[in-house]
Amino acid sequence: MSHTLGAVEMVLVRLPLVRPFTTSSHTKDHLDHILIRVRDQDGAEGWGECASPSDPYYCSETTETSWHILRDFLIPGLLGKSFERASEAAATWSKVRGNNFAKAGLEMACWDLVCRASRTSLAGALGGQRKEIYSGVSLGIEPTLDGLLEQVERYLDQGYRRIKTKIGPGRDLAYLRAVRQRWPDVPLMADANSAYSLENPEHVAALKALDDLDLMMIEQPLADDDIVDHARLQSQLRTPLCLDESIHSVADARKALDLGSCRIINIKVSRLGGLEEARRVHDLCVQRGVPVWCGGMHEFGVGRAANVAICSLPGFTLPGDVSGSDRAYREDIVDPPIRAHSGAIDVPWDRPGLGFEANLSRIRANAVRELVLEAERRPLAA
Ligand SMILES: [Mg+2]
Repeated sequence: MSHTLGAVEMVLVRLPLVRPFTTSSHTKDHLDHILIRVRDQDGAEGWGECASPSDPYYCSETTETSWHILRDFLIPGLLGKSFERASEAAATWSKVRGNNFAKAGLEMACWDLVCRASRTSLAGALGGQRKEIYSGVSLGIEPTLDGLLEQVERYLDQGYRRIKTKIGPGRDLAYLRAVRQRWPDVPLMADANSAYSLENPEHVAALKALDDLDLMMIEQPLADDDIVDHARLQSQLRTPLCLDESIHSVADARKALDLGSCRIINIKVSRLGGLEEARRVHDLCVQRGVPVWCGGMHEFGVGRAANVAICSLPGFTLPGDVSGSDRAYREDIVDPPIRAHSGAIDVPWDRPGLGFEANLSRIRANAVRELVLEAERRPLAA
């Protein structure tokens, strides 16, 4: 079935977080994501989410750069073009370099549209197999050790299968050791978001000290654009390294695995520019026997539903960061809400597309800005 988009709507939505979240670089108490609704000539619709952070601390994109790239390049280049598959829609922006979060949001909306029109679940269209996915939680850097232990206890009580905590220099070993001592067997990992450097001997010593804690992995300890120093570090550690920020494509993943820069890859749909590239990285890792899991950007329900779908692929053997929406938001913008039960989330195989319905009135109630682009609009640059 061929689709030609007549209109695309962008809505910048702000949702407050249930609790502030701190990483090695910054703290946030609300998130602004761009929801994207595409509509074809027959009135069929699809939703996507651009989960770019507002600030350039995780990656170089921000909400405003994503808005600009979507409004002035990606959407005008797609409007009026026909496609049968989301990959054909994505081919219309193949000249655009980088800007993967913006691309991922629009590509997701096209997947949703194509799947809804053909009454197929997104998980099925991607080649998923799992009936449910296993969830871990990602905890920020807590101000106190007691605060961290309290958070870990709360989420283990709720049945979450893996604990990840953010770390940074000086806020690493003592925190993780305390968790490990209290819960000797819990699957535990740490995410440094590039806060360490091999040029700093204290950093190297701190990372080596983590080797005694039987961690599942240490995620992205070194620079966001590095795979060389990560390979050097991996050769000195028993604990597997996992790369997040460094992997923007299946080519990046292949090079990192060839170099021995990591033994695990965090697949983020947004960072990889869409579901198609996320699936390619998954397939490569399955071929190489490398486990993968799905990271998150505190997605609202639309992006979170896409994460649930990609997690249903067979290579996602490790619990990821895809938790129930209630962990981040009091009230999400999809129905039904995405919920975890005993650390698992059901994959909505019986519902088309993303499997969760965008709630337009809740979206509008939390909208900061809205824009509709129609087929007449032309890109600023060809
Ligand atoms: Mg990470």
